[in-house]
Amino acid sequence: MLKLKPHHIIDIIRDYGQYSTFEPHIYGHAYHTVAKNIIENIEQEVQLVITSDDVCIPCMNLSSEKQCRDILPNHPYSSSKQIYNDYLDAEILKALSINAEFVISIKGYLLLVFKEENLFYKIYPHSKDIIEQRKIMFRKGLNKLGFSEV
Ligand code: SF4
Repeated sequence: MLKLKPHHIIDIIRDYGQYSTFEPHIYGHAYHTVAKNIIENIEQEVQLVITSDDVCIPCMNLSSEKQCRDILPNHPYSSSKQIYNDYLDAEILKALSINAEFVISIKGYLLLVFKEENLFYKIYPHSKDIIEQRKIMFRKGLNKLGFSEV
């Protein structure tokens, strides 16, 4: 079963709305392979975690203590990606009223995200324009996956 950070799933669907392919990243993480896996089968189950996940496992930034060492220069919340990710994933789960380690289908999780109208505004510390753009691309990704509810 997949084990993923809630925001990684949202990012993948947003990127799917924007691009047609996923390529390997210089960090060596598994974002591209996990993305393909999700897109090919959204009925599969995922465990939602606030820890390092299946994307992080091969990443050059993952420390031996399973912490992310990456830096986010000039980020509005924190320059530590570990701190920001922990905040983001906890806020997503809180807004959706689900607990960490919860198991759900990818499709079921995406529907929860879609139905929580103001989720993106609750979780992202960015400008309105950036958040709107994320929402548009996320919806495009859902459309490409064939979501009839969107
Ligand atoms: S370790 Fe950090 S940079 Fe690497 S995939 Fe995980 S969150 Fe991203």
